[in-house]
Amino acid sequence: MNMITCPYCGTELLDQQVNYYCSFCEMAIPSASIQYNHEREQIFNDFDLCQDEFMLDLYINKRTEELLQLSTYELLYVLRHLRAQRSEIYKSLHTFKNAQVTEYTEEAGKLYEESTKRMFVVENILRQRLGYVPSRVTENFLSKYKEMILKDKGTAMVIRKKRVINQKMGYNNK
Ligand SMILES: [Zn+2]
Repeated sequence: MNMITCPYCGTELLDQQVNYYCSFCEMAIPSASIQYNHEREQIFNDFDLCQDEFMLDLYINKRTEELLQLSTYELLYVLRHLRAQRSEIYKSLHTFKNAQVTEYTEEAGKLYEESTKRMFVVENILRQRLGYVPSRVTENFLSKYKEMILKDKGTAMVIRKKRVINQKMGYNNK
């Protein structure tokens, strides 16, 4: 049978009808966050989508609500491309300004403001998660981050009580 457990510490949860309660964490756990049999919460990283250049525009022009749902890896990826896109827009804005093409200047100005705001959004979501705004996100940084995610400790939170107690009391099982 499946045991309903805490996503943070693996303790069996108490059913409180509306939600659940963890006696170790001393807090309510919403039904959407509960895990089974001491499993850790699944973190979804869409590496495939991040590699699809055709999907890039769709990916980096998400609404704030959608950006909030992305994994940290995806947000770093989005930030990298948003910054590149923004500096391209900035360059063309200056070209139009210098050439005195008012219509294009206005259009590019609007785009520049939009991409700046979107960049702020992604920076601030990352700041909440990491505690800082990453100054530069390089391809190398992303691939190292991905490597760490793939090596993530995803094993169930099972405590082998017998072995711990025996070691504490100095028993020798050999
Ligand atoms: Zn807990």
